[in-house]
Amino acid sequence: MRVLITGVAGFLGSHLADRFLAEGHDVVGMDNLITGSRDNIAHLAGNRRFMFALHDVSRFIQVEGPLDGVLHFASPASPIDYLELPIQTLKVGSLGTHNALGLAKAKDARFFLASTSEVYGDPQVHPQPESYWGHVNPVGPRGVYDEAKRFAEAMTMAYHRHHGVDTRIVRIFNTYGPRMRARDGRVVSNFVVQAIRGEPLTVYGEGQQTRSFCYISDLIEGIYRLFMSDLVDPTNIGNPHEFTVRQLAEEVLRLTGSNSMIEYRPLPIDDPRVRQPDISRARALLGWEPKVPLAEGLGRTIDYFRHLLAG
Ligand code: NAD
Ligand code: UDP
Repeated sequence: MRVLITGVAGFLGSHLADRFLAEGHDVVGMDNLITGSRDNIAHLAGNRRFMFALHDVSRFIQVEGPLDGVLHFASPASPIDYLELPIQTLKVGSLGTHNALGLAKAKDARFFLASTSEVYGDPQVHPQPESYWGHVNPVGPRGVYDEAKRFAEAMTMAYHRHHGVDTRIVRIFNTYGPRMRARDGRVVSNFVVQAIRGEPLTVYGEGQQTRSFCYISDLIEGIYRLFMSDLVDPTNIGNPHEFTVRQLAEEVLRLTGSNSMIEYRPLPIDDPRVRQPDISRARALLGWEPKVPLAEGLGRTIDYFRHLLAG
């Protein structure tokens, strides 16, 4: 199989490329490096089954040769990034998805969309099953990401229904692990880097909001199974173990042995109060569930950042 992965120099895209290559497939990786880094794919430089194209997928996408899959992962994903890049975020979710779908149609390839738990917004149903339509503020600052992804899902289903493109949609919940950017602003990378440096851990609000954190290897396994399945309707992939942000901060302090303080900062606008995936669908239809407990995943992430920050 030969697949295109957009956003290949990012956190998830680079791990996904590793997985497809490990399964014996060929990978064309595309990225404009707006939030990604060549460092994430540097280890693939000598691999003859991998090629990299520097390109903004919000512009027409051209790929020579056949493709069996188009996996659209390009998009700023950290709230800090998409608040700084609102127009690029809207464009890559809308125009970028349209271009990637057009390519999949032209190549008769399977299309796979990286969607997000943010399509549920600040949810009024808890935990969130795929059948929940969400509670999103379209004109708030997070709307640029949430609405782009909701549009991307609608566009994907339209290409499926109208053009017969073979499509998959994954709704990814908070994922963490090696290759996150140290300064990407997401909670796990922030806390781990702050703890290692002995800086205060910045807890937003009172830290009572919840998230459910999935380790990268579990997520990639779920995504790979979903890609290979015949499930067209959206599927949640995430870890259902729910923690408050405050509990996460305490766990990071315990595992790093850091004596950093906790510093409270204002809660960002429209920050979801709770988030937990209902993964019944993935369990039943993909035979998938996460395996890596938080302490183990955090341990590996701490090792990665210790090494990175020391270098
Ligand atoms: P990331 O910022 O590490 O990676 C995104 C990559 O996309 C970067 O390399 C960036 O340079 C690239 N990119 C952005 N706009 C582009 C464009 N116009 N053209 C080409 N490349 C472009 O983020 P990530 O965590 O790896 O997220 C990857 C995907 O997964 C995103 O679509 C995101 O919405 C989705 N997702 C991630 C999470 C998570 O917890 N990590 C949760 C939900 C959804
Ligand atoms: N958060 C925090 N301190 C930080 C970064 C984030 O308390 O330094 C909180 C944030 O307000 C949110 C949660 O942690 O409630 C997860 O934030 P993240 O940016 O990782 O992703 P989100 O789930 O909001 O998309």
